[in-house]
This record gives sequence, C-alpha cells and structure tokens, in this order.
Amino acid sequence: MRLGLIGGTFDPIHYGHLVTAEVARYELGLTKVVFVPAGQPPHKPGRQVLPAPHRVAMARLALATNPHFELSTVEIERPGPSFTVDTVKKFRRLYREAEIWFITGADAIAEVAAWNRAEELFRICRLVAATRPGYDLGTPAGQTDLLDLWQVHVLRVPGVAISSTEIRERVRTGKPIKYLLPEPVEEYITQHGLYREKEINCHVQPVLQNDT
Ligand code: ATP
Ligand code: MG
Repeated sequence: MRLGLIGGTFDPIHYGHLVTAEVARYELGLTKVVFVPAGQPPHKPGRQVLPAPHRVAMARLALATNPHFELSTVEIERPGPSFTVDTVKKFRRLYREAEIWFITGADAIAEVAAWNRAEELFRICRLVAATRPGYDLGTPAGQTDLLDLWQVHVLRVPGVAISSTEIRERVRTGKPIKYLLPEPVEEYITQHGLYREKEINCHVQPVLQNDT
C-alpha cells in the first residue's frame, strides 16, 4: 500500500490543496491521501491561525466528495507544535506495511531542510514536491542537488495560483471567493463570519489594564 499525507494549516482548505492531492494520488498510485491539519504550526508563530475546530470542519466539508481522501486530527490532538517527522512516524505505526509519501508544495519543500530532524524524515518517507505557481523548484543555489540527494519526487500539477492567504484577504476586503474553494467551505466561512477581521501579525498578547 502507498499512503499519501499532506500537511498544512488549511486556513482555509482550497482547490490548490485538493488538486495537488488528487494529482499525487493518481500519478503515484496512492491508495489514499490523508490531510493532516496542523495545530499551532511551528513555522507560523507570528500569525494567528484560526482555531482548529473551524479548520477541521472546513476540511471535512471539502474532502467529503472524494472517497480516496481522509482527514486526520493527530496533530491537533497532540499538545504543542507537531513536527512532520513525528506525524510520519505515527502513520508508520498505524500502517505498518505502507510506503508513505509526504506531499508538499514547491514553497514548503524549500524549507524542508530546516525542518526538525529532516534527515530522519527523508529516511522514513518519500517526499513529493508539487509545482506551485509563483514558486520555483530548485532555483536557489544547491537546491536541485538537495532534491536529488533526498530523492524528492517532483510532481507537475496544473497550476492553481490560489493561497489561503489570498482567500483570507479577499474575505476581509469583501471580494468574492467563489470558485476558489468548494462551495460548502465558502458557505461555512459566511455562516461563521470567518476572516472578516484584519489578521493579527503579532503574537504578543496585549496587556490588560486592571481597573481596580
Ligand atoms: P497560507 O497562504 O496560509 O500559507 P497555503 O495556501 O500556502 O496557505 P498551506 O496550508 O500553507 O496553504 O499549505 C499546505 C500545503 O499545500 C503546503 O505544502 C503547500 O505548499 C501546499 N499548497 C498550498 N496551496 C497550493 C497550490 N495552490 N498549489 C500547490 N501546492 C499548494
Ligand atoms: Mg502556505
């Protein structure tokens, strides 16, 4: 069995994620692809990420129409930041016979070398770098060599230039997000009034003055 994993904040999930996962499933012959939303992600400490239950609910809605897609809340249930290497190990324990393929976009693969215990990660799974508009694979000096060294599988995905950042910004400024993500996710965002406030880019809590 070949198992695909795709991690991310999914804040919110959109067609870029879904197309990438589906192309990976088909091209690599994956039995299924499990989406693993992050808790408070270690690489985004400066930005407020929407509470996990909302991100999970939106992912559930988006994944419902594909029988090969699943959702896992392992990273959310684990306290503190999760590292990909630990998540992959967890899936190796759950699916002992499976070959694990960890799917990332071109932007994320460029950061993999800096991930916690990267060497170990390359030993226990295969990495997939999906093309993503606006991000070059292997342009920085030495990057191509590293991709070769780690046997990263480059996956050509029809370009979907959508990001969660752009979706959040569009909602905040009253622009449409229709056709950028599945309709039930759009409805969920509207129903719950998500992403209307400007993002807080500071993780220092304001000091509350005590009146007494
Ligand atoms: P944000 O703008 O908040 O960073 P995002 O759109 O990049 O959101 P993430 O949750 O950060 O989404 O991404 C999860 C994974 O999906 C990452 O590996 C990322 O590279 C990949 N990914 C996201 N959008 C695309 C896309 N449009 N095409 C290919 N890969 C993508
Ligand atoms: Mg991202």
